[in-house]
Amino acid sequence: MDNSTMHDFGIDVSRLTTTRKTHRPHVALCFDDHVFAVDTTRTFGNDPIQPDAYLITHAHSDHHGKSAMLSPKSICSEETARALEIRFGKDYMGQTFKIGETINIDGVEVATHPTHHTIGSCAFSWVNDNGTKTLVTGDVKDASDLPGCDFLVTEANYGDPADPSCYFEDDVAGLEQIIGDNVALGAYAFGKAQRAVSIARNAGWHDGISMDTKGYNLTKGLMSDCGHLNEIVEYNGGYEGLVIVPPWDLGKLPGSMKKYVLTGRQDYYYPAINISDHMDVTGLVDMVMDMQPEATLIYHPDGHRPERLAAHLNKVGCLAAALGELEI
Ligand SMILES: [Zn+2]
Repeated sequence: MDNSTMHDFGIDVSRLTTTRKTHRPHVALCFDDHVFAVDTTRTFGNDPIQPDAYLITHAHSDHHGKSAMLSPKSICSEETARALEIRFGKDYMGQTFKIGETINIDGVEVATHPTHHTIGSCAFSWVNDNGTKTLVTGDVKDASDLPGCDFLVTEANYGDPADPSCYFEDDVAGLEQIIGDNVALGAYAFGKAQRAVSIARNAGWHDGISMDTKGYNLTKGLMSDCGHLNEIVEYNGGYEGLVIVPPWDLGKLPGSMKKYVLTGRQDYYYPAINISDHMDVTGLVDMVMDMQPEATLIYHPDGHRPERLAAHLNKVGCLAAALGELEI
């Protein structure tokens, strides 16, 4: 698949560049009279392409909301805007929406869909003058709320079918079993920590949960049903209830605590419980097969996984390319 496939859709796939001519992250989709940039950094006055909108799918750093949030042309869900403000300590300057709403971006009706990857994570879909329906997903944990489309723009975080680490299942039961006092979970402050709180509450843990300052602020600011939380201001003892801190802070907690890391990786000192914010490669392939788009563009992350997933999709009869393979 090359850019001519997208031209037939009435879409020109492009990348923003800096004044030094290096590429800005991710992708810009040009169609009709519009340019929608996806998960990229904001441009400056002399840049050759100036987007009409910066779509921010979610607040993870590798999707660059930290930069785009400072443009009045940025667009993201209310929760993503709040997460960006808490994470980066700046005011979000753009437009927000409630996930599920249809919004007008530069005259285009754009529908929004939850991807269940982080709180606030959201996919965008719209139809151009050619009648092509484009869906941009960002990172996806659960594709069941995503609509069908003609042109799918998606991710391959765990997209290499030849890599055993790209196959996993969440061990929610394993996590539920160990939840209790004197237990510490290592989880990233945005995404994994809120997933851990939600699993603990659903499992019936109604006592306190102690979290590091970042995790505490994000969870308190984003989850209305987080229950009683305590902020760990300093690691000096007296931790109440279940403890959730970043993996690298587990060593600062008393040796008497039972410690686990919520991860699919096997290279931590502490025992791992597999809880992921992502779909594995089976889920990604099933998502594309179920949607049956005419073409799939894989725009994230860096590295070889987008090409590996695109090659596999082509093999099973779904036309696909990785962004890095297109001559643009
Ligand atoms: Zn992400």
